[in-house]
Amino acid sequence: MILSLPTICKMRLYVIIVLLVMIGCVPSSEYLAKTGKRVGLDNDYIRVLLLKDQVKVVIETSSKTKVVQLSNNTIVYNGNPKRLEFFIHKLPETLQFETWNNEIIVNGIQVRGMIQLLPVVGKIQVVNVLKMNEYLYGVLPYEIMSGWPIEALKAQAVAARTYAYYHIMKNNSTYYDLDASTNFQVYKGTVSETDTTNKAVDSTSGIIMVYNSIPILAYFHSTCGGRTADDRFVWKGEDLPYLTSVNCSYCKNSPFYGWQVNISLDEIYEALLKKYKTVGQIRAITLGREDNRVSNIKIEHANGIIRMTGNDFRMMFEAKKIKSLYFEAKQTRNGLILNGHGWGHGVGMCQWGAKEMAGQGKNFYDILRFYYRGISVVSINTIPQKYRKTNL
Ligand SMILES: [Zn+2]
Repeated sequence: MILSLPTICKMRLYVIIVLLVMIGCVPSSEYLAKTGKRVGLDNDYIRVLLLKDQVKVVIETSSKTKVVQLSNNTIVYNGNPKRLEFFIHKLPETLQFETWNNEIIVNGIQVRGMIQLLPVVGKIQVVNVLKMNEYLYGVLPYEIMSGWPIEALKAQAVAARTYAYYHIMKNNSTYYDLDASTNFQVYKGTVSETDTTNKAVDSTSGIIMVYNSIPILAYFHSTCGGRTADDRFVWKGEDLPYLTSVNCSYCKNSPFYGWQVNISLDEIYEALLKKYKTVGQIRAITLGREDNRVSNIKIEHANGIIRMTGNDFRMMFEAKKIKSLYFEAKQTRNGLILNGHGWGHGVGMCQWGAKEMAGQGKNFYDILRFYYRGISVVSINTIPQKYRKTNL
């Protein structure tokens, strides 16, 4: 076939347009993540309060270790110590321990990164300074089942990373960003790391969720029981626009989807007595609800009336007793029978729902955008440098 001159010109124009479109497109973080490319920096670091109020700290390492006195940045030791013991009365200054092969054991906990020992009010505070992703390796196994579908694990990794950045920006403490307990996210070093959870962290490296360009407070919970909770009905004073209720039909297979528990009046009285010393015999309990969840409780007793939030009422008992505030109560002669739905505060991502969504072929973007409304999933590179700690 012989192509006419106008046809060749048209083809050239077409090729030029295609080239221009290709040059004009910067690959999105979504595209890069799907193709397995790195999407953000992974040298941001975080300071985790690993142990607090210690009198004695034992540091063990099999590699060369540098000990730096941070006040004047002086190396006070450089060698292979194997084991070092510190007592509070012999620790006048903050010391930082740096090893070269990423293995350091502090009071039996093996961690990556560096260790700082700080003398604070007569006790030693142990802070683990490490890369964000290495921190998340040690968090995920405690927050989600490592055998779940990878997209659910990736959603969890992004939620945990976002939660960490939120606290890095918020925390006013001068020497740590968050602690290793359930106050924030549970972190126990390298002991429980798994290949799948590490892979979820690596393949979402640098990806976080933002609302109005700020990392969100990415709450998550086990099972919502059919509808997630609006944060303003769970915690007084909070009303974050991305933490609104959503109907979730995905967590029906959770073992915590439905539950029943009996609570006797004696149990309620004993729990109240810890906080309210003048509580008398309980006469009536009235539940107030918002958005299907018990948001406030009025307890009339022989010596007066106690009003409290549903969450405070739930927290008076051990964690497994009242699994969520999503329950209906039937009054009996001796107490209450609660018929409930889900486990946890119900705010943000429902993990059993995320598992089911991933099983149905949804990716972690779909999961996060379903549970956190109005958010954007972006690279950490979009966050102003002043909010980040880089170059460990
Ligand atoms: Zn759910």
